[in-house]
Amino acid sequence: MNGYNFLIDTHTHIDGKDFDEDRDDVIKRAITSNIKYMINVGGTDILEGSKRAVKLSKEYDNIFATAGQHPQDADTHLDIDTLYKLANEPNVVAIGETGLDFYKDWSDFDKQKELLKTHIEIAKSVNKPLIIHSRNSGKDAVKILKECNASKVGGVFHCFSESLEIYNEIEKLNFIVSFTGVITFKNANKVRETVKKIPLSNIMVETDAPYMTPEPFRGTRCEPAYTLYTAKMLAQIKECSLEEVMNITTSNAVRLFKLEDKINK
Ligand SMILES: [Zn+2]
Ligand SMILES: [Zn+2]
Repeated sequence: MNGYNFLIDTHTHIDGKDFDEDRDDVIKRAITSNIKYMINVGGTDILEGSKRAVKLSKEYDNIFATAGQHPQDADTHLDIDTLYKLANEPNVVAIGETGLDFYKDWSDFDKQKELLKTHIEIAKSVNKPLIIHSRNSGKDAVKILKECNASKVGGVFHCFSESLEIYNEIEKLNFIVSFTGVITFKNANKVRETVKKIPLSNIMVETDAPYMTPEPFRGTRCEPAYTLYTAKMLAQIKECSLEEVMNITTSNAVRLFKLEDKINK
């Protein structure tokens, strides 16, 4: 078959201390499991996670980085000069994760909205897509993306948990979605129903490691190698082969993050 025969973990956080003991092994295990590339998303520890992501992307050819300040940290002042500098790094393939999280009051909602707007402006100025984290906040996120013309750069709603109505809105705005190990959870029928209705051409896979560990490893630390289990579940839901899931989700990632010249086929 002509196409991609490997997966990309499009959203992972292996820069954090959970991986300090065995990061190199974790990366090797991912490659052995046919997860040839990873996108280490910035967004932990204010901007420190983004800095560590860039560092990792320089150390490993198969790791790309993103830069952003998570909505949970919206109460902390944004060091915009540092974010701009990180955003311009050649290995930084997206801006985020940014977005809105109204699940709990992690941080002031208005400040989250302002922070999201700033990230959209930066994404447009460096012409890189956005990684959106949206929890119980789909309508507000859509409103801001529209207002700020985010469709110019597009992006992904990661660990998608919003409704199909929200999907239909973001699709028009040039955004796709990605799914984590959540789709393997026994109690996740509702998410699986949503997956069924979204075309594979608009879906990517991710781990969000160290979180969202898929079955059968739930309860342990998540790592990029487990992307395979999410991809297998996706194949099951879509009633297609794992090969097809690999080819299409990887094509989607290559297209969104403009990886064509950065990876080996
Ligand atoms: Zn997130
Ligand atoms: Zn994340």
